[in-house]
Amino acid sequence: MSDMTNVTNDPSSSNHVPWYFRSLDFEKLWRDYPPPPTYFETTAKLSKDELHQLQEERFLQTVKRGWEIPFFKLHWEAHGMAPGDIKGLDDLTKIPVYDVNDIRKSIERNPPFGDFMGISPEDGKRMPLVLQTSGGTTGLPRPMLYSPQDRETMAILGGRRMAMHGIVPGDLVLVAYSLGLGNGGMAPREAIWRYTGAVPVMTGSGANTPTRRQLEIIKAWGVKVILAFPSYLRHMAIVARDEMGIDPKSLGIRLLGTHLGMENRELLEDLWGAKAFDMYGTHESGMLAAECQHQTGMHVMEDAFILEMADPETGAILPDGQKGTTYITTLYKYGAPQIRFNVNDISAFHTTPCPCGNTSRRLKRIFGRNDNMIKLRGVNVFPEAVGAAVLEDKRTNGEFFCFVDRVGEAGVDQMDVWIEVIDESADVSDIKQDMERRMKEVLGVKVIVTPVPKGGLDKFTLTSQSSKVKRLMDRRQ
Ligand SMILES: [Zn+2]
Repeated sequence: MSDMTNVTNDPSSSNHVPWYFRSLDFEKLWRDYPPPPTYFETTAKLSKDELHQLQEERFLQTVKRGWEIPFFKLHWEAHGMAPGDIKGLDDLTKIPVYDVNDIRKSIERNPPFGDFMGISPEDGKRMPLVLQTSGGTTGLPRPMLYSPQDRETMAILGGRRMAMHGIVPGDLVLVAYSLGLGNGGMAPREAIWRYTGAVPVMTGSGANTPTRRQLEIIKAWGVKVILAFPSYLRHMAIVARDEMGIDPKSLGIRLLGTHLGMENRELLEDLWGAKAFDMYGTHESGMLAAECQHQTGMHVMEDAFILEMADPETGAILPDGQKGTTYITTLYKYGAPQIRFNVNDISAFHTTPCPCGNTSRRLKRIFGRNDNMIKLRGVNVFPEAVGAAVLEDKRTNGEFFCFVDRVGEAGVDQMDVWIEVIDESADVSDIKQDMERRMKEVLGVKVIVTPVPKGGLDKFTLTSQSSKVKRLMDRRQ
């Protein structure tokens, strides 16, 4: 894998500044990773064999690039791998996996940027770089540097996502993800602006632009699309309805783009009178997958990624249809490729084709985080599944927070799920009883449910301040 850096003026000159628009062979990049609408007539129609060939070529380039990066060299050699061992895609499973803890160790070993990237800020002398980070809420976020090729390809993949959702030229698209170090708001802006013909409206999260002001902008400017986390989309709709006396449906929003996870799609669609589309992306990889108009799971950008589903306990690769933890291999990245990165998101592939004709494999949804998963008296529980159950009950607004404790002399694990009640006429003890019964059905383990008034969880979930919501506090030692 090589970066297509193609700066014409003399890079050895002390005056040299690498200009972004001279840093790439854009025409070649667009042929390699077609943006919409070309994507739908090319990459989205590849046969299995054509895709295999393309992936294999890019995979071998990526492995070659991996050997140039200290993190991979160390990791691979420690597992007895030698250059030349990987001869094709059939050898993919011979490559040892790693996860975010290995990346954290890489940063500790080689601060502040780690040795998992093949570029450092010094490389800004030969190519313009962008730094963004993970959306982490505790401690320093994990940095990621993007080369021009990495960043521009990410914008193309993001553009495909928008087009699959149904965003068209001329749409005003409100981006209500936080603006800052995280990619949340920045990456969609680049994708919308460069590859959709739509116009990004960068309000950011509620901390960047108060929710009421966001709603005023939607109304005044005729915004047609909102991109935000489901919790914020709900929050916006409720502020409109309950605080501003505006029916969100009257705002004329045509579609919502979001990371649905286990959230209830119908509830969001009912609130806004708009279709909601799922997507999946990470700051390490970019836009991995997105739903088309048929809402039948997320089309994977398979010319840019290889995704595998593995048994979380054994690492065995699972057949399509079965739920596992997701391993990501990037095929386009130069700066910090990911090669069998266990991202710890639980998903599964669909086994039937999509009516839209796109031949790519599709992810069903992201069922939860493997590392969010908590063992409760021997049962695996995902907070995301708790959320799905809470949303079913119309007496709540879907907000919830889980406290996990070890109680009593016997040290028994106990989870207390706090939920926000919006129906003031509802009997709190009824809600408690109903929800406890429903949770037992959904989770397979008994939990305590504590109803609290609307807004009572803000200080735990940080919903109104941050676009990334906390759902769990594990207080066990
Ligand atoms: Zn489709």
